Amino acid sequence: MTVLFASDLDQTLIYSRRSMGSEVKPEDLIEVERYEGKPQSYMTEQSQTALWELEPDTVFVPVTTRTREQYERVTGIYEGNEPPQFAIISNGAVILENGEPIKEWSTDIRRQCVSRKTIIEELMPVVHQHFNEDWVLRVRQAEDWFVYLVVDRARFPEEKIGFYTDIFREIGWSLSLQGRKLYLMPESITKAAAMEYVRDRINADYVIAAGDSLLDLDLLESADAGLLAAHGEAVRSDAEVSDHIIVTEEKGIKAGEEILAKVADISMQSK
Ligand SMILES: [Mg+2]
Repeated sequence: MTVLFASDLDQTLIYSRRSMGSEVKPEDLIEVERYEGKPQSYMTEQSQTALWELEPDTVFVPVTTRTREQYERVTGIYEGNEPPQFAIISNGAVILENGEPIKEWSTDIRRQCVSRKTIIEELMPVVHQHFNEDWVLRVRQAEDWFVYLVVDRARFPEEKIGFYTDIFREIGWSLSLQGRKLYLMPESITKAAAMEYVRDRINADYVIAAGDSLLDLDLLESADAGLLAAHGEAVRSDAEVSDHIIVTEEKGIKAGEEILAKVADISMQSK
């Protein structure tokens, strides 16, 4: 039986110093990403071992909102220096197969009207109208797929997130606040759709998905079993989830361990 393990990366499997929580010993940490010469993200040694030792018919597919460049830095998930056969990046707008984008997939998504033009003409005026604030540090476009704002979390008005969500939903964009980044994502780009493409390609019999943010919920809903990290945006915002989705008991990097231990169990049982 082929099991697809489709998992978000940041704050699900990998953690920054800030997001990992306090109860982890430095000697248990493995650096999995380096950026500008400095360690950026970590897993525990136990997590990395569990990930690398999944049964051969369990296929790990990273499913991340990171762009290609940001994803390719996370080499600590590459077992034996081999990147996973498939990786879903840019929140599902791009699928990498053996490290190269599947062109037809992204062309199809472009056809669903996500373009530079949509962003400039439809999204950016609303962004400028509502986010012309001093807590917005930067506005970035991710390869013309979506937009994110780097915000000063200390000054970001969390009580207004519902208000902003409604404004952008009206023009077809979803909002997700993850760490210092506020994502604006077209509703036509989903992690679930890309996961379903990969599931068909590898003929998976069972899908287990893991995540932490609102952008992961469609992925977890489309899976047979879902694991949601207790510390994440999705749990904090009280989003409604189906019964096949369970919330971890642990938080921070320990939630990552708990997720990988559960996946290892399912992987063993499916042999
Ligand atoms: Mg995440």
